[in-house]
Amino acid sequence: ESTDPANTSDFNQQSLLDKDRKYLWHPMTPHNPDPMIVESGEGSWITDIEGKRYFDGMSGLWCVNVGHGREEIADAAAQQMKKLAYYPLTQSHPPAIQLSEKVNEWLGGGYRIFYSNSGTEANEVAFKIARQYHHQNGEPTRYKFISRHRSYHGNTMGALAATGQSQRKTKYEPLAMGFQHVAPPYCYRCPFGKTKDTCSMQCAQTYEDVINWEGAESVAAVILEPVITGGGVLVPPDGYLKKVRDICDKYGVLMILDEVICGFGRSGQQFGHHNYGVEPDIVTMAKGMTSAYSPLSATAVRAGMYETFMGSGADSHFRHINTFGGNPVSCVVALKNIEIMEREHLVERSAQLGKALRQKLEVLMAHPHVGEIRSFGFIAGIEMVEDKKSKLPAAADKMQQIISECKQRGLLIGKNGDTVVGFNNIITLCPPFVTSDEELEFIVRTLEEAFATLK
Ligand code: PMP
Repeated sequence: ESTDPANTSDFNQQSLLDKDRKYLWHPMTPHNPDPMIVESGEGSWITDIEGKRYFDGMSGLWCVNVGHGREEIADAAAQQMKKLAYYPLTQSHPPAIQLSEKVNEWLGGGYRIFYSNSGTEANEVAFKIARQYHHQNGEPTRYKFISRHRSYHGNTMGALAATGQSQRKTKYEPLAMGFQHVAPPYCYRCPFGKTKDTCSMQCAQTYEDVINWEGAESVAAVILEPVITGGGVLVPPDGYLKKVRDICDKYGVLMILDEVICGFGRSGQQFGHHNYGVEPDIVTMAKGMTSAYSPLSATAVRAGMYETFMGSGADSHFRHINTFGGNPVSCVVALKNIEIMEREHLVERSAQLGKALRQKLEVLMAHPHVGEIRSFGFIAGIEMVEDKKSKLPAAADKMQQIISECKQRGLLIGKNGDTVVGFNNIITLCPPFVTSDEELEFIVRTLEEAFATLK
């Protein structure tokens, strides 16, 4: 009898594809898709049902930080599942307690950890905690949030309202109220018309303007990623995050940092904000927390804020619950994932790989369709243009050609950005931290070959 739960041996490629087309609704994908059916993974590679191997240049969706096929994570999960598969966190269990201590250590101390299942939910929790905090701190009129155009913060009515990409939103509006947006730090196409030489960091100053225009007494928090990832790897100028922090402090506005992608070593440090010397009030995290071996997310809240929820009134605690958040199996998976990162020094390795990748990618700058290459930790973005002078975003067929040429050669890459609505003109890379030096060469060589077909 087969022990393979998906029982794929009973299906050939065609019958699986037929059933996929009949029963599955794929996210973010046009209908009548031709999906790759992925069966297994090992290190930085995945294997499809036909036995073809691909280098997972995006770590799935920016998340499989320790790489695929880690048996010790599977074993830890199985053991915990046998011991205690579930109990809600209205009470407690050892894995959640241990993980909270460990996450606190990675953050540098001073936080309380609230668990959910996805990055989206972690952000929703941050919004609700921010509003309730102000209520209980004697400023009940503070309800607005400021985020950035080009950002992505999740898919629900609140997190999508915070998101600054209209093409993801218009057909689902109206979304939650109270979300304002400011222009992103997008130096290659500076929204304020500045260059590196004339930059006065208006992208950070604009927060202060909007806070004043809206009325500081109405603003609860800002939410931002340390570096905009999915919106096209937009790296802010030096001092940007610090300046936003200072503006928040000046007006009593909370700073929520979305570390869903940048956290857990991806930035080359434990968390993205550690690169910028700022202390956020709330940090949200998911993806790399478990390297996606099991769903888990968290909202870390400064201990001082937590105190505000300890009042004597019956309503002072946080009235929010989700059934699965912080379930013991996911917590054990996170603990094992973090243990692996520590044991194998993967945060340091991520920093090293990021620097090497950035340097090697420089050869692509000679290509007429490469406008700019940006990176943050072990994330890289290659902005493609029609030509370097006009900076017109590269047309969809050019993007598709690079992606297909890479895939044919066994390299999976991402496409993000939407520089202008409808133009996803930024190639993204976000490989697992277990990538070897040879595999790094393979990535760059394959990209060079793919770009050579587009001359
Ligand atoms: N924030 C950021 C920065 C993200 O990249 C994502 C997911 N790509 C989310 C939030 C939402 O996470 P999830 O898909 O787990 O809900």
